[in-house]
Amino acid sequence: MRLKDKIALITGGGNGIGKETCLLFAKEGAKVIVSDIDKKAGRATVTEIKKTGGDAAFVRADVSNPKHCKKMVDFAEKTYGGLHILFNNAGIMHSDDGDAESTAESVWDLTMAINVKGVFFGCKYGIPLIKKSGGGSIINTASFVAHLGAATSQLAYTSSKGAVLAMSRELAIIHARENIRVNALSPGPLRTELLMKFLNTDEKKNRRLVHVPMGRFGEAKEMAYAALYLGSDESSYTTGTEFLVDGGITAAYVTPE
Ligand code: NAD
Repeated sequence: MRLKDKIALITGGGNGIGKETCLLFAKEGAKVIVSDIDKKAGRATVTEIKKTGGDAAFVRADVSNPKHCKKMVDFAEKTYGGLHILFNNAGIMHSDDGDAESTAESVWDLTMAINVKGVFFGCKYGIPLIKKSGGGSIINTASFVAHLGAATSQLAYTSSKGAVLAMSRELAIIHARENIRVNALSPGPLRTELLMKFLNTDEKKNRRLVHVPMGRFGEAKEMAYAALYLGSDESSYTTGTEFLVDGGITAAYVTPE
């Protein structure tokens, strides 16, 4: 098992990438703290893990709230005695996110509070426990839109993911000699609820797919496998990267017919 004896905390563990990663990490032997703002979804992930003999526990946390983030890390320490893998994955893409003229300040603030401050709070409270546990791996979910301008405007979201990349790089350097690795995971467009709600017409979906060399949306499970590599000791010399798992989207100038 690739994560034997590891303790992992995953935010946004109730759906999409987070959920698939919780299931995979548990299958690979990790003790998993499933965290989400959505109690029902987070608990359902735990139930699914337990059904297959895995070890997991749920803690409700809104990652934009520092008290909740402290509580979620304290819960990891109380429940499993430490922390080795922190996956700051929870994020939103607001349906009213648009260009500079149309995006309301409230949409900008909410997006930044969850997508950027959420990662900061996860690290702020998670890093001391990772240090106490002898080191570990932090994975922060960014996006391919932090690398390329998006076809459909989503200014707050894109800006928030750029901040996640910059923050991850700097944290990687700060903690490089403390046995703590920090990497960003930059998924391409995925067939998860988050994106399908945003690209809510065939026209919008096709507009996006035109740019993906593989010609399909990615699956949450394909991100979970990338997170597994970054979380495990197999990536022991990998830090400060912007791990792109995007179906070739950032490599393409012209995509095949
Ligand atoms: P999803 O909507 O399927 O799941 C997100 C989970 O986060 C949900 O369970 C939700 O309840 C939880 N969540 C939302 N706000 C929260 C908060 N304030 N506190 C705690 N939990 C909260 O989304 P997903 O597609 O799995 O996205 C996961 C991450 O991947 C996000 O950071 C997203 O921006 C990023 N991402 C997604 C795509 C994509 O195409 N889906 C592409 C690139 C990056």
